[in-house]
Amino acid sequence: MANMIPQHAAQEAIPMPGGRTRKALGGYLVDAGKLTLANVERACRLQHEQAQWEPIGTILIKIGLVSERDVAESLSAQLDLPLADRMDFPDELPIDTRISHKFLKHSRTLILDEEDDQVSVAMADPLDQYVKEALALFTGKQIRPRVGIASEIDIGLEQRYDLKGDSDDASGIDAIQFLDDVEQLKELASEAPVVKLVNQLIHQAVESGASDIHIEPFEGILKVRYRVDGLLREVDAPPTRSTAAVISRIKIMANLDIAERRLSQDGRFKVRVRGKEIDLRVSTVPTMYGESVVLRLLHRDNVALDFGPLGFSRELEQFMYDILARPHGILLVTGPTGSGKSTTLYAALKHLNTPERKILTVEDPVEYNIEGVNQMQVKPQIGLTFASALRSIVRQDPDVIMIGEMRDKETAAIAVQSALTGHLVLSTLHTNDAAGSITRLMDMGIEDYLLTSTVNAILAQRLVRSLCPHCREAYAPMDEVVLRWGLKRFTQDQTITLYREAGCEHCGHSGYSGRSAIVELLVMTETIKQLILNHSDAGEISRVAAEGGMRTMFEDGLRKVVTGDTTIEEVLRVTQEQSQLQMTSRQHSPAKSADGKSDAERFGVTAVQKRGLKALLAAMATGSRRCLTTLLHWPGSVMAFLGKLWMRR
Ligand SMILES: [Zn+2]
Repeated sequence: MANMIPQHAAQEAIPMPGGRTRKALGGYLVDAGKLTLANVERACRLQHEQAQWEPIGTILIKIGLVSERDVAESLSAQLDLPLADRMDFPDELPIDTRISHKFLKHSRTLILDEEDDQVSVAMADPLDQYVKEALALFTGKQIRPRVGIASEIDIGLEQRYDLKGDSDDASGIDAIQFLDDVEQLKELASEAPVVKLVNQLIHQAVESGASDIHIEPFEGILKVRYRVDGLLREVDAPPTRSTAAVISRIKIMANLDIAERRLSQDGRFKVRVRGKEIDLRVSTVPTMYGESVVLRLLHRDNVALDFGPLGFSRELEQFMYDILARPHGILLVTGPTGSGKSTTLYAALKHLNTPERKILTVEDPVEYNIEGVNQMQVKPQIGLTFASALRSIVRQDPDVIMIGEMRDKETAAIAVQSALTGHLVLSTLHTNDAAGSITRLMDMGIEDYLLTSTVNAILAQRLVRSLCPHCREAYAPMDEVVLRWGLKRFTQDQTITLYREAGCEHCGHSGYSGRSAIVELLVMTETIKQLILNHSDAGEISRVAAEGGMRTMFEDGLRKVVTGDTTIEEVLRVTQEQSQLQMTSRQHSPAKSADGKSDAERFGVTAVQKRGLKALLAAMATGSRRCLTTLLHWPGSVMAFLGKLWMRR
């Protein structure tokens, strides 16, 4: 890899027609005193490592090393083209009909002035030959490009085309939403009512036990949703006209650039609610109608970091202690996003955290601070990745290493190496079940014999919502249900009583409150080792492990159903979505069925869910992994509906 990085990126010269050369953009920024040479090289390295190519200027802005204006000014010097900032934009745009506004918006081009034989334009990317040629074709004139600032062009176009004359709109929405004066925005965001609104949003979220707050602007409306016990629920949103002020307020709290609304940003801040310290991680993403903001709430001092309270059975808890007592080897925890993997790892760390052990962690993010444990936060922007952090960690003489997630081959290889050299390694993997992790590690290039000699055990888990103790209702299940799931295995009683959700004010009328883990623990026995060395598939490994006494996640869930902790529906929801999705997408059926109801009606899908699903489908088509993990949180009926939609695409 190293030889791919230009050593002197800033001095690198670009050949130009006519034998001249042009100094690279980075060089101009260094000359202007905006950047150090080391930073330019860092950005070049990022440019090479990124899957999708981006201009160096874009990367520099994204990682916050320079402002958009700095890049535009240097670009202007580099290309010898004048800069056009928003002071140069005309009030009325000269050409309105010949060129599609969409095209201008997409190509980030604003028409400044039109004369008899030429048109001058501000372009975010003045090197875009295609745009210049297209404009020349539309207008029949020569195009004179100037260097524009992308966000200014965006706002300029919005004001001049979409919002012309609407600034006195009765709702006042537009006037506020597209404010481009940062000072004004700052002022607005610090006004007492806005501060109060934001505080209220956070307080309410804490009180309802939410893990995330989603603030999402849509066309003419602001939505707020809380994620409680893994599922989103809509709550009262602040008035739509305060959208910009609310979002700016949060950005100020998280120390983000409030002027930047075209790029995603990440930040964090702390608040105290009723004496409890809460850490909030903020992420903003530009969407069609403004910035969408998600706040993740991390309760530092309010977590049960013991296996019992997390939902482990006594037997499994003991198994975990046995595995953690081994001096070296790997313990893996697997499951989708939001399945409680990291909480389990923290419980393990807490158990291991004694004065005679040195524990080091590499995490993304550090969710809880454990006293006495050296925790390191991954920062890929500055080259501190899981792999690079691990390489330095092993030189720190640790006994126990926790790796937040094994994302790539390199990280997995270092983990195996550390386990071989006498360390106890804890980590997570993103697979569906315990046996699946073995195939995943082999796909990552870990040799079978290394796997069998280092991995001690693999724990797979999901979180099920617990029935609200205040309102759950007892009922006698039908014989078929008892028989179908073999519920008698889990109880000595002859008559089985199950519970179902009702809903009361204690649980926000959802019938559930809190969550607990259902788990399966695959221990590396001689039989399992042999299967791995024979390269048996995950299904076979799983089957043999179950024969050997491994209780599957599903069975662990049924155990909780019988004790009245949760419902069968809930256990099915978190363990079976994927097979359900596959099943429904195989059957083809028309949009309307014989009873005249649409699929949406039959599956009980609300209009809001339907809209979300369409967006999800679009994301799925691009293969986004994030959306697939989001899917795991949807109720089964919605999943089945999604299957239909997917079929009809
Ligand atoms: Zn209740």
